[in-house]
Amino acid sequence: MSTVVETKGLASGYGGQPVIHDVDIAVNAGEVVCLLGNNGAGKTTTMLTLSGELPTLAGEILFDGVVTKAPLHRRARNGLSYVTEERSVFKSMSARDNLRCGGVSPADAVQLFPELEKCMGTRGGLLSGGEQQMLTLARALGRNPRVLLADELSLGLAPLVVDRLLAAVRRAATEAGTGALIVEQHARKAMRYSDRVYVMSRGRIAMALSSEEAQARLGEIEATYLSA
Ligand code: ATP
Repeated sequence: MSTVVETKGLASGYGGQPVIHDVDIAVNAGEVVCLLGNNGAGKTTTMLTLSGELPTLAGEILFDGVVTKAPLHRRARNGLSYVTEERSVFKSMSARDNLRCGGVSPADAVQLFPELEKCMGTRGGLLSGGEQQMLTLARALGRNPRVLLADELSLGLAPLVVDRLLAAVRRAATEAGTGALIVEQHARKAMRYSDRVYVMSRGRIAMALSSEEAQARLGEIEATYLSA
């Protein structure tokens, strides 16, 4: 499997001050990789740096094996999709137009999330939180990204919706070869849909393990790294 995104000794932060240090992570094509950690561990900072919104202070980021310093819009053109907990749908536009203006066919979105069919004509702002995130993810995955970065996409949503979103990410990886890096509060659920897990603590990678191993050691991981 080819590595689609990789960091080597990455440091990044705010105002020139690093808050993540020496981060080595890799995501292969077709893989879902989960980034776990307490509040403030550095997960969002890592995602923002990969997306190009924060500068690299040390180390490097490679896409498809090539070092990149490109800003987000260029990374997007090269096949990177970045989604977050903030609902990114256009509120006054219908669900259908939200998809179309992202270059995604409504039919493809409905195939991914059949529940979107009934609300294609509804304005984005009137959709439920879960529907908005399905729309957001359908738009992101509809462009067949090489890399999907999802930062707490399911924050505050009902458990069933969390499963729907994670299953869609899993399917994109397995069927379309997308490499996905996901930050999730729901550690147990995230492990079920992912291949590998990194645990961050105080700005550093504390553990790197397979999801199977992480599930077996969940109690220990929660007690050591995920109890705020
Ligand atoms: P959470 O689950 O709370 O989002 P996180 O693991 O995503 O946590 P980050 O948001 O990456 O953690 O934060 C890592 C560190 O960077 C924290 O100490 C935080 O206070 C600091 N930080 C985050 N955003 C900024 C900012 N805009 N300016 C300065 N420091 C920041």
